[in-house]
Amino acid sequence: MKDFDYEKFIENIWFERRDIVSDGYDRALEYIKKFLPEMEIHRYKSGSKAWTWIIPEKWAVRKAYIKGNGRVLLDLRDHPLHVMSYSASVSGKISKKELFSHLHSRPEYPDMIPFEFSYYKKDWGFCVQHRRLEEFIFDEYEVLVDSKFEPGELKAGVFFIPGATDKEIVVMAHLCHPCMVDDGLSGVSVLINVARQIMKKTDNRYSYRFLIIPETIGTIAYLSQNEHLIDKMEFGIFLEMLGHDGRLSLQNSRQGATLIDRAAKICLEEMGLDHRVGKFFEVIGNDEKILNGPGVNVPTISISRSNFWGRGEWPYPQYHASADTPEIISVKRLKEIEGLVMRILEVLEQNYYPSATVKGPIFLSRYGLWVDWRENRELNLKQAEVFYYLHDNQKSLIDIAYELDIPFGILKEWLDGFFRNGLIKKLKV
Ligand SMILES: [Zn+2]
Repeated sequence: MKDFDYEKFIENIWFERRDIVSDGYDRALEYIKKFLPEMEIHRYKSGSKAWTWIIPEKWAVRKAYIKGNGRVLLDLRDHPLHVMSYSASVSGKISKKELFSHLHSRPEYPDMIPFEFSYYKKDWGFCVQHRRLEEFIFDEYEVLVDSKFEPGELKAGVFFIPGATDKEIVVMAHLCHPCMVDDGLSGVSVLINVARQIMKKTDNRYSYRFLIIPETIGTIAYLSQNEHLIDKMEFGIFLEMLGHDGRLSLQNSRQGATLIDRAAKICLEEMGLDHRVGKFFEVIGNDEKILNGPGVNVPTISISRSNFWGRGEWPYPQYHASADTPEIISVKRLKEIEGLVMRILEVLEQNYYPSATVKGPIFLSRYGLWVDWRENRELNLKQAEVFYYLHDNQKSLIDIAYELDIPFGILKEWLDGFFRNGLIKKLKV
């Protein structure tokens, strides 16, 4: 298995034209296999059904330009994003008005080429820096998009690590999005590292399913063909937009207050990471919509550094644009999320329901469990409250840590002392 270096990994793969069904996407997935040799590649044929969706054709673009007065104004060779992803072919002379109805630009970010796509509606289009529109001074233009649609296969990378139980945690990231880094690829890179660490552990209680897919349609394709797995899926984590300098965002699952929502929140607190928490749909919608979604219903959180799309904010300045390059991300920030995800999974693994074997407030000093207020004032104040949780068998360590705002690590260490003294039993989650 090849060593993983975030910088090299991203450098080698980011500029691939990773459209949802494309050679660039396939090459990227093959490259990932070097780091996860046991990853399976599942294939779904163009035209086949996935619930109400239909797997799209494979797409490629060979040549594209816009000429005005015989001069080339825009050329695919200058940047792959100049052509809308899944653009139909077009060729001929057209008016300025017609051209402008197919020309995408972003006035708020006039120096970036926007990323546009039309996967399910046949249309053609170009994308251009907004400031360059002033070069389009002619009444008539010659346009060419030479693109190709053909039957292909949508591919999902699936890496499964069995644990002691068949309850699964699903970790997802999407590999599509041509020539961009933070949207998609940053999540994939963290996912690979998490998978490689989980794989080395020998005491996993949960089973883990890692999915690397094209956004939305990839998750729909995979779940629709593996419905029998859905009942085993306990929780999900979706990862993307992790490397730029935005503040961390935790988007809760649709269900809202499940163990994974709480585990994520207490880990963010415990690690002292500056963050905001949004409700489902409030931060940014991706594959967690499918796993959380209608008829599937697996509580899935999303971790990103996105602003809150659901509140009308733009995710980050370089979002869906040519400026989403390796320059805007830092390995330090990716590793920070890797650490966060590992801690969330560890907390879920270590979780249990503490169940008291004795009545009454516990004579802590007798067992060396008294928390001196001079050493830990916070826990000192809360220790008596914890007793009440030990009798209802409804609250796990995660819930107690969350509700009483005690760092999970400190609570666990303290309650492990109760267990050693026979004061509690550990009931399985
Ligand atoms: Zn995106």
